[in-house]
Amino acid sequence: MSLAHGRPYLAIPGPSVMPDAVLRAMHRASPNIYEGELVEIVRGLIPDLKYVAQTEGSAAIYICNGHGAWEAALSNVVGEGDTVLMPATGRFGHGWADMAAGLGVETQLIDFGRKTPLDPVRVAEALAADKAHKIKAVMVTHVDTATSLRNDVAAVRRAIDDAGHPALLMADCIASMGCDRFLMDEWGADVAVTGSQKGLMVPPGLGFVFFNDRAAERRAEMKRVSRYWDWTPRANPEFFYNYFGGTAPTHHLYGLRAALDIIRAEGMEAIWARHATLARAIWAAVDVWASDGPLEMNVADPAYRSHAVTALRVGAPYGAQLREWTDTQAGVTLGIGLGMSEPEDPQGTGFFRIGHMGHVNAHMVLGMLGVIEAGLQALGVPHGRGGVAAAAEVIGAA
Ligand SMILES: *Cc1c(COP(=O)(O)O)cnc(C)c1O
Repeated sequence: MSLAHGRPYLAIPGPSVMPDAVLRAMHRASPNIYEGELVEIVRGLIPDLKYVAQTEGSAAIYICNGHGAWEAALSNVVGEGDTVLMPATGRFGHGWADMAAGLGVETQLIDFGRKTPLDPVRVAEALAADKAHKIKAVMVTHVDTATSLRNDVAAVRRAIDDAGHPALLMADCIASMGCDRFLMDEWGADVAVTGSQKGLMVPPGLGFVFFNDRAAERRAEMKRVSRYWDWTPRANPEFFYNYFGGTAPTHHLYGLRAALDIIRAEGMEAIWARHATLARAIWAAVDVWASDGPLEMNVADPAYRSHAVTALRVGAPYGAQLREWTDTQAGVTLGIGLGMSEPEDPQGTGFFRIGHMGHVNAHMVLGMLGVIEAGLQALGVPHGRGGVAAAAEVIGAA
């Protein structure tokens, strides 16, 4: 017997759950791409996207996933022979640095491993050692989706300023934007990137790059920027097609409009508070389960845990078995361990991740936690009893 028949729940860190309003908005005939409604919609998207990023700067939209947004951002501010500094705290930091390497950029990596956040002091030291100002940008993963570590972006800004270094601060907010508090202007990020399929609740396919005047100045000094990735015409379009460097991603734009309406209606403060409370409920459940048995949070200190994704170690092969069980027996799909391989567990089957980003509420989180608890029970994984009750207490007290 399977108890999975019913509405499936994709509880992975992206793509995230799509609201019905987003799905309905996309289910329509192709619109006119020369004039009329679509053109109006796109004009209105820009201020709402900037609201989500908390910036008065500029926004460029790309038809791509997060990897494309990574490359788009880099292509405008660094080129062959330049150097970037990446304090990495997981697979995604290494991935963005590798994207820079592919563009012929020297990448200086500080590897903080998988369990601890970046240390701004070490960033400051690296910048102080760079007397010739070869480092053109410090790239920070706000939330590394593989480890679920959340880094202090504002502290990196202070480190750059204290070192008197001109490097730009670039933030990967693909996992965090619309989930974890992020204040682009206040925190002093010069460039921020995100994608459509996480906090923004739209299918994968749109990438967003936000940039301020300092970053635009750097762009103007570049010898050469790929025509397609150049953010200048996208942010200052003379013609409608300039927004997208070609045909508009028609249906994604309708979906995005619906998602931004939902975000506007709730408001960023309330969205961040909802994610924070739901995350605390998840941690409370895990604390109880972890009190007896192999399960543990990847990030020990709550101050550095993401509110959008939680990475957990349960020991091989329990992680893989649990994901299989929750998927086939209960209709909840959990995320795989990513970049978590170990010599004795090359496939990382001892890990799993919970995605709790975007369109998630109390009953979804409590249901998902109940399913994990049932799975631990079904598979005979030793665990402390009463995790879901602890989560319910957090939500009841919120
Ligand atoms: C998802 C994610 C990416 C990559 O996005 P894709 O759409 O898979 O290319 C990059 N960085 C972070 C932090 C992410 O969460």
